[in-house]
Amino acid sequence: MKCPYCGGLDTQVKDSRPTEDATSIRRRRVCPHCGGRFTTFERVQLRDLTVVKRSGRRVAFDRDKLQRSIQVALRKRPVPADRVDRLVNGLVRQIESLGENEVSSEQIGELVMEGLKGLDDVAYVRFASVYRNFREARDFETVLGELSSDEEHKAGTGGE
Ligand SMILES: [Zn+2]
Repeated sequence: MKCPYCGGLDTQVKDSRPTEDATSIRRRRVCPHCGGRFTTFERVQLRDLTVVKRSGRRVAFDRDKLQRSIQVALRKRPVPADRVDRLVNGLVRQIESLGENEVSSEQIGELVMEGLKGLDDVAYVRFASVYRNFREARDFETVLGELSSDEEHKAGTGGE
């Protein structure tokens, strides 16, 4: 693994342990050239996934990009990091289990919205407003309508 600081090629693993949910291995590495320290993650990748964008452009599926877009939606929301990790892991598993080598950005967007809806309403509306690109105010009302019917559902089953 190349050192991200100096580009040295023979970095050493200092520590290697599974993450809490055991879906990945975290390795602490140190560069003997510059002393730089960094962390890498090893994860299962079941297949090479390609994302087909709305424009028709094809790009490799990027887990980090997915995680970043979710983190942007969750900015300053009181959601613990491990729940975000679990959401991202779950989404990746869902995307992989679609059984296709190509997946549309729309499909991914829908899955992310579903996931966020269960995690944090504000993040859900943020993501949906960017993703659905609300051209009409009506779209926004539809989303808010979906949310309030969810609330009713939760209240009905919450046993308060
Ligand atoms: Zn280095």
